[in-house]
Amino acid sequence: MQLNRRSFVARGAVAGAASATLAAPAIVSAQSTITWRMTSAYPKGSPFYMDGPGSATDLAKRVEAMSGGRLRIQVFGAGELVPAFEGFDAVRAGTVEMNHANAYFWTGKTFAAQYFTAVPFGMNFQGINGWLYDGGGQELWNEVYAPFGMIAMPCGNTGVQMTGWFKKEINSVADLKGLKMRIPGLAGKVYASMGVDVKVLPGGEIFPALERGVIDAAEFVGPFQDRRLGLHKAAKFYYTTGWHEAATVSELLINKAAWDKLPRDLQAIVSNAAAACNVIGEAWCQRANSDAMEDLIKNHRVVAKPLPDPVIKALRTETEKVLAEAVAKDPLVKKVHDSYFSFKAKFDRWSEISEEAYHVKVRG
Ligand code: CA
Repeated sequence: MQLNRRSFVARGAVAGAASATLAAPAIVSAQSTITWRMTSAYPKGSPFYMDGPGSATDLAKRVEAMSGGRLRIQVFGAGELVPAFEGFDAVRAGTVEMNHANAYFWTGKTFAAQYFTAVPFGMNFQGINGWLYDGGGQELWNEVYAPFGMIAMPCGNTGVQMTGWFKKEINSVADLKGLKMRIPGLAGKVYASMGVDVKVLPGGEIFPALERGVIDAAEFVGPFQDRRLGLHKAAKFYYTTGWHEAATVSELLINKAAWDKLPRDLQAIVSNAAAACNVIGEAWCQRANSDAMEDLIKNHRVVAKPLPDPVIKALRTETEKVLAEAVAKDPLVKKVHDSYFSFKAKFDRWSEISEEAYHVKVRG
């Protein structure tokens, strides 16, 4: 930094001596432009993830504007530079500096990553942000990624997701047995232990599979994203209980060596742009989902309702078993799990007498 400042002053002095008009280009050249590359698990053009308020491209625009063009982030959709789920390895290797996706895609590398996206029966948007920003979650996220030479931060959130689309009604736990369902991740494990025949399909393959009856049910995101895939044309019953993903965090994954080399003001710009996208992306989802759900119910005769209580109870019991197994296997998972759930216990008690009291007794 000292060297840079001296050479900047020297160049400025020379330019100033020669002519006042030459001083400006000297200042520009002293401010070098850094170009980073960011991959994504989502295809180019995906609303919320790649395009629109709070998306990956929105993050890049904000960083460029705030830094006066000193930090440019080139954004690549899934498959453009690396396949959808290879962003973790690309950032780890330093092939790219950043990846935009969800931490739970990396549970095969480190199971604890699950807690930084969504845990079944976990916290909502307010709770997860409380834990991440101010309850030790952010520090644990970086601790989990330290062995991989990476850091991460929240950069978007879908809010509550929907249980998904079913061709037939679910009236009891028995109705789940033998059901062929598209559902990835930990929720898939929970369903599998309850007799569901779990299928993991990429987003683009869900509609044809559901329409042709290759699967009987499918989970994707929520009203806006699900309608975009046309899932309402393939199944009539839309179960709404977001037991599996109460607030799904988008992850900005960053190569630690690249981050450490970034000037502190640019680090602050990236962190602040990510926090802005976290809120702005979630706000977009609330608006887009309330519009889409109204359209699905009014214009497409979709039957939207919560899962029956005994089914939710059984899902909770299975989730607790699956999480207990993961905690027993790995001390780091235990550390993250204990932090997450002790925060949640306090948050739930507070939420009950604040937000929930408002929703139940005041809002009407
Ligand atoms: Ca989902």
